[in-house]
Amino acid sequence: MKLTPDHESLRNTIRDFAEKQIRPIAAEIDRKNHIPRELLNQIAKLGLTAITYKEEYGGLGADLLSMVIALEELARVSAACSTVFVASHLVSEPLNEWGTEEQKKRYLVPMVAGEKIGAHAMTEPGAGSDVAGIKTTAKLHGTHWEISGRKTFITNGEIADLYLVFARTSPAPNREKRHKGLSAFLVERGTEGFHAASKIETIGLRGSQPSELVLDHVKVPKDNLLGNEGDGFYVGVKTYDRGRIDVAAQGVGICQAAYEAAISYAQTRTSFETPLIEFQQVQYKLAEMAMGLHTARLLTYWAASLKDQGKDFVKASSIAKVTSTEAAEKLSLLAMMIHGGYGVATEYPVERFLRDS
Ligand SMILES: Cc1cc2nc3c(=O)[nH]c(=O)nc-3n(C[C@H](O)[C@H](O)[C@H](O)COP(=O)(O)OP(=O)(O)OC[C@H]3O[C@@H](n4cnc5c(N)ncnc54)[C@H](O)[C@@H]3O)c2cc1C
Repeated sequence: MKLTPDHESLRNTIRDFAEKQIRPIAAEIDRKNHIPRELLNQIAKLGLTAITYKEEYGGLGADLLSMVIALEELARVSAACSTVFVASHLVSEPLNEWGTEEQKKRYLVPMVAGEKIGAHAMTEPGAGSDVAGIKTTAKLHGTHWEISGRKTFITNGEIADLYLVFARTSPAPNREKRHKGLSAFLVERGTEGFHAASKIETIGLRGSQPSELVLDHVKVPKDNLLGNEGDGFYVGVKTYDRGRIDVAAQGVGICQAAYEAAISYAQTRTSFETPLIEFQQVQYKLAEMAMGLHTARLLTYWAASLKDQGKDFVKASSIAKVTSTEAAEKLSLLAMMIHGGYGVATEYPVERFLRDS
């Protein structure tokens, strides 16, 4: 695992943009629960949607470690903004992996160019962890599939241009093989019978609000099946193996933000006529934060590097995701403690870090 000058240059570009364009409105995004589309377009123009894709699809042909660094820098300032792109990757990644050339030209190219945002629609009111338990159905009628069902908690649900919808296309053969018979479909925004219903209010990642989706006899062309019929479960879970690294990167960004905020506050706030940072009890907390931050970052970079080297990364991505998101929660709490009473005040960003963790 080695960071190159290109990695550092990318980090500086994203950090500079995030500081200038996102930080001034990060609290407002959280308060209003809305990210201006123009801002998302600007982030995409930085190349965030293109980093890991091949040049023939308009991508930059860079490694996953670059993507991790970019997401980390975005999440350091606004985890809501990074979440939009993490969720969109849950569509562009499987398109890249299982899409036909025709599907890639039609859908992947505009996603890589940042012109289309994706939403990954797996979860349903009655099935979350239990992916095989989804009830949405798709039936083939000659030249088109007809999809009916309800999805929930779908990030980018209201703003996406392209949805990857999972549905059951044949009954499960038996209880042991209930993951069989699922398929994945590409559904364009505006398709008749398909709409985002209510937005789900959440305490964190506000701005990237998940929504419910309604599919009422939605007709999509036969060719909009992604991957083989019946392979939808694998399309989903293999996408999550890779997606965990993106989520881990966001955790690293929140850890970094909490650590910086805590140090800055401890240096400027005085108590008993002494800067907080001179109290050993506060130094212990900062040392604990540094340990959490570096552990999360190293594990996340390790997982990305394994994937970049074509090695098995599945266990590493799971370890990185759990470690990094738990560290984000812990570091946010420690940052709040160092802020004393101001830790719970919304005028300081540290309480948002905890809600976003
Ligand atoms: C902010 C946010 C954004 C999201 N974005 C998306 C998205 O873009 N697309 C999408 O498809 N989904 C999305 N989701 C949904 C997410 O994937 C589900 O919430 C998750 O899969 C858990 O499902 P559930 O909420 O139905 O909980 P359940 O599956 O009902 O689980 C409830 C509890 O039971 C535990 N549990 C469940 N099964 C077991 C078991 N076998 N053994 C032990 N414990 C178990 C769980 O760990 C959990 O603690 C999002 C969720 C959130 C909160």
